Amino acid sequence: MADDAIKPEESPLVLVADDDEMQRFLFTETLEAAGFRVEVVADGSAAVERTEAIRPDVVILDVVMPVMDGFAVCRALRSSPAGDGLPIVMATGQDDLDSIAHAYDTGATDFIAKPINWTLLRHRIRYVYRAGSTLKQLKASEARLEEAQHIARLGSWEWTADDDLIKCTSEVFRIFSMTASSGELPLSQLLEPVQPYDRQDFEDALRELTPERPTLAREVRLKSVNADDRIIAVHACLDEQSANERFSVKGTFQDVTERRLAEAKLYQLAHYDSLTGLPNRSLFLDRLNQALQRARREGVDAAALCIDVYRFKDVNDSFGHQIGDRLLQEIATRLQSVVRGADTVARLNGDEFAIAQTGLMQPEGAERLSHRLLSVLSKPFDVDGQEVFLEGCIGIAIGPHDAGAAAQLLSKADMALHRSKADGAGVCCFFEGGMDDAFRSRKAAENDVRQALNSGWFELHYQPQVAVDGSGVVGVEALLRLRHPEKGLISPETFISIAEETGLIVPIGTWVLRTACQQAMAWQQNGRRPIRVAVNLSPVQFQERNLTETIILALEDSGLDPTLLEVEITENILIRDTATVIDVLHKLKALGVHIAMDDFGTGYSSLGYLQRFPFDRIKIDRSFIMGVPDDPGSAAIVGAVIALSKRLGMATTAEGIEKIEQLQFLKNEGCDEAQGYYFSRPCQAKDLQDYLNNASTDVATSHLHAV
Ligand code: C2E
Ligand code: MG
Ligand code: MG
Repeated sequence: MADDAIKPEESPLVLVADDDEMQRFLFTETLEAAGFRVEVVADGSAAVERTEAIRPDVVILDVVMPVMDGFAVCRALRSSPAGDGLPIVMATGQDDLDSIAHAYDTGATDFIAKPINWTLLRHRIRYVYRAGSTLKQLKASEARLEEAQHIARLGSWEWTADDDLIKCTSEVFRIFSMTASSGELPLSQLLEPVQPYDRQDFEDALRELTPERPTLAREVRLKSVNADDRIIAVHACLDEQSANERFSVKGTFQDVTERRLAEAKLYQLAHYDSLTGLPNRSLFLDRLNQALQRARREGVDAAALCIDVYRFKDVNDSFGHQIGDRLLQEIATRLQSVVRGADTVARLNGDEFAIAQTGLMQPEGAERLSHRLLSVLSKPFDVDGQEVFLEGCIGIAIGPHDAGAAAQLLSKADMALHRSKADGAGVCCFFEGGMDDAFRSRKAAENDVRQALNSGWFELHYQPQVAVDGSGVVGVEALLRLRHPEKGLISPETFISIAEETGLIVPIGTWVLRTACQQAMAWQQNGRRPIRVAVNLSPVQFQERNLTETIILALEDSGLDPTLLEVEITENILIRDTATVIDVLHKLKALGVHIAMDDFGTGYSSLGYLQRFPFDRIKIDRSFIMGVPDDPGSAAIVGAVIALSKRLGMATTAEGIEKIEQLQFLKNEGCDEAQGYYFSRPCQAKDLQDYLNNASTDVATSHLHAV
């Protein structure tokens, strides 16, 4: 066997079709010696049959054969799968050029001329065989590449700027859902299915490639079909010769929709709680960090709130996990309903939630949010038709004051949570360091108010209201004081607003009403003639549904005649929820209770209000009385208010009388009653009793006479 003989394990198979037995023998001998396996047939149709059956690597056909000539066989083989890529060699006559041309026309790979040069034959066939198998490998590799591209949803392309044509592999067309399967087309036509903005962006980037910045990577979205957004990743690189010659770019398109979806899913899994859909701890810390960064940038605060749901474990244990899960989802929804869009509600674990609050102007903002959160948690939950009551506990830490990093801030909020847990359900506590001085003193004041209510530190002082016409003391105004064991007597100016903000004004107001009614009754029983008592009501008390009932109860329990009770309200109440306020006032009026407008002139003084509300009395604010009689402006206003009230059938009381000149002026203007230090400062009940006993019935007149 020659050196370049084919190795036996490869041993390619050659099918020889020749009607000449001698020729068949020589072919066999020669080719077998060269390492081929050889099969021979004697006619054309046998050649076709055997090719189908044995799938030879090379076929040699004699042109002139019985039944079917070589050309017919060649044509038949080319149109069958077995002939695809198969090297077919035709044995033609020596100088038969027509026959050679014909051989190629019918699909022959090569020809050998007869008479055959047997020494050269084996080289010729080996060459044909190798070329054939290379072609086969190339085809297989192309097919594999195409398949790989198909699997990867990746297509490649080449674009030339001169003609603006883009040459694409078939996968590109599939990616763009285009009917064409391969070839070259104008760039604009290919990009037709791309979203206009992305398309423009990509085209610009493509044209801006330079040898200095030769690559681009982008994602473009296809115009959605059936709400199905497809995302195509584009990678491209300027062709190396582009710099000096033609400007061309090679690149790939890859449909990465599924990958992006999977990534999104993975992100969801890694960052969100699957039960409630809320961010989990890791995303929470991320968001909290962002909030802290923003706080530093904008000079504001960020808060971390840790929320623990009281009694959740009991419910979970007694109703089972399924219901527990539903409850957690409902809790999540409720918590989310009270925060702003920029804030983050997260579930840390079990029944522990947290909130990252951004852009806080003051720590109080976190406290207000806490109250809203506690309030939504305390509303009953419906569990299979049964009402379940839960409650929350909140710990608050304020950044960057308490901590500059999210994890630390969260742990401080958690410490505060432990403190509030110790204080009981429905409580929120700050991390101690989170309070600046103003806030700390406000918190202290709030504690004072709370403790005053629980420890009975409140007391009522009474200031007489005197008839200007000389008929003496006709009423008293009950004024609240807080007697602090260490700080002494505290004025309502400092604690009423706190009591209102915390809602504590409601129980405090009830106490004031009951105490004032009882006191008025006590004076009456001590032999005084009946005396009217005025009680100040806060707008917050009107927001409580049962204000009317509270007043009725105070009257009933004390036995005080309703006509001896007067309620004082300020103008500010009249601007919100007027319908409810009017309703309550009419109910009180129907009971016989008097209604006075306090501090007239300081708020939204409006004539319209005076007519729409059933006032019995207008109390002219001290700020106007201070100016009379000397300041002509004040004098004119006071005079006008008195005249107007008279016309509307309302009595007038002047507040803050300190000088006899003021009293004189009011008497001349026809004011009904007066109240002020000139007669008496507000004093304790027993001192007022003495005052009443000592004062002659005509206090006002006696004072006037003294002038
Ligand atoms: P107000 O209802 O206008 O009460 C009159 C205020 O003027 C009282 O202040 C009283 O001490 C003060 N005053 C009376 N005469 C004079 C005077 O001649 N000169 C000066 N300079 N002041 C005089 P007070 O007791 O500090 O109360 C302040 C405000 O606190 C009250 O204003 C009222 O709005 C509120 N307040 C007091 N007690 C209660 C209460 O029980 N409930 C509610 N909601 N508010 C109350
Ligand atoms: Mg008052
Ligand atoms: Mg007043």
